[in-house]
Amino acid sequence: TDMPRPKPGVMDIAAYVPGRETAHGAAKVYKLSSNESPLGPSPKVAEALAARNANLALYPDGSAHLLRDAISRAYGLNPGNIMCGNGSDELLGLLCQTYLAPGDEGVFTQHGFLVYKIQIMAAGAVPVSVPDTDDLTANVDNILGAVTERTKLVFLANPNNPTGTYLPVSEVRRLHAGLPGHVILVLDAAYAEYVRRNDYEAGVELVSANANVVMTRTFSKIHGLAGLRIGWMYAHEAIIDACNRVRGPFNVNALAITAGAAAIGDRAHIDRAVEHNEIWLGRVVEAVEAMGLSVTPSVGNFVLIHFPDTPCKTAADADEYLGARGYVLRRVAGYGLPDALRMTIGSEEANLGVIDALKSFMA
Ligand code: PMP
Repeated sequence: TDMPRPKPGVMDIAAYVPGRETAHGAAKVYKLSSNESPLGPSPKVAEALAARNANLALYPDGSAHLLRDAISRAYGLNPGNIMCGNGSDELLGLLCQTYLAPGDEGVFTQHGFLVYKIQIMAAGAVPVSVPDTDDLTANVDNILGAVTERTKLVFLANPNNPTGTYLPVSEVRRLHAGLPGHVILVLDAAYAEYVRRNDYEAGVELVSANANVVMTRTFSKIHGLAGLRIGWMYAHEAIIDACNRVRGPFNVNALAITAGAAAIGDRAHIDRAVEHNEIWLGRVVEAVEAMGLSVTPSVGNFVLIHFPDTPCKTAADADEYLGARGYVLRRVAGYGLPDALRMTIGSEEANLGVIDALKSFMA
């Protein structure tokens, strides 16, 4: 019949399903399903937004100079190597649109972030999923083994979502060293600030020294600004130039530019968020393991909890039980992890509540 049809491949894409926001029947809801910050944004964000002489009739600065300058000051980078986006999601998509032609291949890890596969397919390219090591960490040899002359992009989330696993710098370097020069290594560092060793600095060095490495970052996690949608990437000028040709002209909105610039300058707030996470990640893991459940060791602001397949004690059962009490966690069956729930490290009240509810669930 005479009907519009999406281009080939689009209907094979499984749409991204965001973490649930609500729980039915609970008086109070604790959303622990999308790795948002329980501290929220820096108070400097509200101040900056209030002080801003906003004329919302005008387009924002299409190059987001204010925000790029603030980011470059915070990290000692050249603003010409930075591009901002409507969330880092947008930048991941932009890299796919810019570098992948139909028939090209994009490589990502088995339990990696789902947006890679979606955007590779949306570009008409071939998604190549690479098996992880048994402990759910990315496997460099497997990744290198999957690269062909059609490979244009390799995505590595480090720390990875939803597993919380981390590849040490030595392994990331080995991965880069094994890639042909025409392949871009995309280091997705959405959770970089939570890594205590903070060796994402090494990722910055890797970008600085090479024309084929990109690092993507976000304001959605440590900066508590998921609602404003702000991400950025650090890359060689040639990559920034190519992506600028494809990017939407005003992709970062005026409020996001102001808010992001204020947030990145508040080092004390960032430190508070890191410290809160470190304390509560440890406590949650300890409590959950004491119940006899296993967790995947995480360096992020979330943790993967594995459930047995005994009747009434599965991940699906736990999800329902916790949800009814207002604790909304994330099912990760879509990531090939049907036995697990991912829990964002929340406020003290939320974390203690989940621990209590899980105890009664397991009893
Ligand atoms: N990368 C990873 C690994 C993530 O977990 C997320 C958030 N779910 C993103 C990128 C996207 O973040 P945003 O678009 O909010 O910047």
